[in-house]
Parts: sequence; structure tokens; C-alpha cells
Amino acid sequence: MENSSVTSHLLGEPVCYCGQISATRTSWTKNNPSRRFQGCTLYGRLDPCDYFSWIDPPPHPRYKIVINGLLRKSNNNENGKMKTRRLVKLNQIALGCIVLSVLIHKRVI
Ligand SMILES: [Zn+2]
Repeated sequence: MENSSVTSHLLGEPVCYCGQISATRTSWTKNNPSRRFQGCTLYGRLDPCDYFSWIDPPPHPRYKIVINGLLRKSNNNENGKMKTRRLVKLNQIALGCIVLSVLIHKRVI
């Protein structure tokens, strides 16, 4: 006989050991990229239960390689964009300082 907490459903949604409708989340680990699972709604808060169930089957090894490669590229692009934004701000500040110093210099002379 199956565990009634795991198999009980409320309106078709699985219920965790706490009696809460379980939360659907997506794993982004290297071994399970983009793989959905269900767990306790209270996870990350006070006293969650240990209910856990995969929704999707294990990813194919080729899928893992492709998704992890795309994630790496996406993260690199985000880091590059942040560096570019920082450089633009620094350039704007430097330009403002140059303009200000030129104006001050002209006034003094
Ligand atoms: Zn729970």
C-alpha cells in the first residue's frame, strides 16, 4: 500500500506531508537542468517536510550538455553586460569630471 500523504490529491494536485498542495519548481542543477519537480510549499521557510517528487523524467545526457552549455553562455553574456554597464557609467562620470574641470579652469583663467 502506498503512503497516503504522497498519493492523496486535492483537486488533482499532489499534497505534501504537511497537507499543503505541493509547489512545482524547476531544477537548474548540472545533473537535472530544466527538470521540474514538486516539493513542500514551505521549503525555505520554517519546518518544511521532506516531500519530493520528480515530474519530468531524467534528462538525456545530450540534453544536459546542450542546456548546461546554453546556461553557461547566458551567464557569460549577463556578466559581460554588467561589466559594460559599469564601464559606461564610469565613462560618464569621467566625462562629467573632465567637463567640470574644464569649466572651472576657464572661470579661473
Ligand atoms: Zn510539506
